[in-house]
Amino acid sequence: MLSQAVLAGASGQVRNMATTAGNLLQRTRCFYFRDTATPCNKREPGSGCSALDGYNRIHAVLGTSAHCIATHPSDMAVALVALDARVRVVGPAGERVVSLGALHRLPGDRPDRETTLEPGELIIAVDVPPLAFASRSLYLKVRDRASFAFALASAAVAVDVRDGTVRDARIALGGVGTKPWRAAGAEEALRGRRAGRDAYRAAADAALAGAVPRAHNAFKIELAKRTLVRALLRLESR
Ligand SMILES: Cc1cc2nc3c(=O)[nH]c(=O)nc-3n(C[C@H](O)[C@H](O)[C@H](O)COP(=O)(O)OP(=O)(O)OC[C@H]3O[C@@H](n4cnc5c(N)ncnc54)[C@H](O)[C@@H]3O)c2cc1C
Ligand code: SF4
Repeated sequence: MLSQAVLAGASGQVRNMATTAGNLLQRTRCFYFRDTATPCNKREPGSGCSALDGYNRIHAVLGTSAHCIATHPSDMAVALVALDARVRVVGPAGERVVSLGALHRLPGDRPDRETTLEPGELIIAVDVPPLAFASRSLYLKVRDRASFAFALASAAVAVDVRDGTVRDARIALGGVGTKPWRAAGAEEALRGRRAGRDAYRAAADAALAGAVPRAHNAFKIELAKRTLVRALLRLESR
């Protein structure tokens, strides 16, 4: 899933220039964040969020707050959070390890603070621990065009199926969350179930249970569910 997620991002030219840490720490593609003529709590704390009542088709439905609904744009981070990756960081206080899931913050009332890195800290490595069933994994990205577009919804999945029953699963979603979104509820919904469309749909419902739609992005809830179900079905047919 990791190589598929990397190859699903940007274009060959951008990928050749980009770095692993830079991709994890890239900032949101929210149009208002990039348009300095409009209020944006992430760019200018306390100024307001133009997306809440603006055009919010690309914005998040999971992990949002009344202060920011920006989506995290990275594909690679979605695969890494599913794989329980760990980020090695060095700074004035020395070296420490941060799990990928704890690297990005939810926006809350401080969307300008995006990560748990301290001032002066540098990412020096990303470690991916071995996962016994990582060879049965997949990253599926849905976007407006086939290349050079950010995810409207994506799913990183790894599933351990034995004798038709799901023993374990790793699931994360992209394009719908304010941070790379580990779907622990979906994993829980799958464990112990017979592998198949019914179980996958139950997992998708669990993954999006807390979704909050806005005027133009409600379609993302069903899209994300279908993306997850399709990813799991593709994995099953391999
Ligand atoms: C047109 C376009 C389309 C794109 N499409 C996608 C896509 O579909 N999917 C996707 O995942 N990505 C996409 N990207 C993102 C792209 O792949 C890059 O990862 C992103 O632009 C960041 O660039 P960079 O890696 O050079 O990081 P930089 O711009 O160099 O850095 C980004 C941030 O991280 C900080 N930083 C960098 N390295 C470190 C470090 N070691 N420790 C601490 N802080 C660090 C920098 O200070 C900066 O704040 C797209 C980018 C563009 C421009
Ligand atoms: S969604 Fe976040 S980044 Fe976009 S305008 Fe609102 S506060 Fe700014």
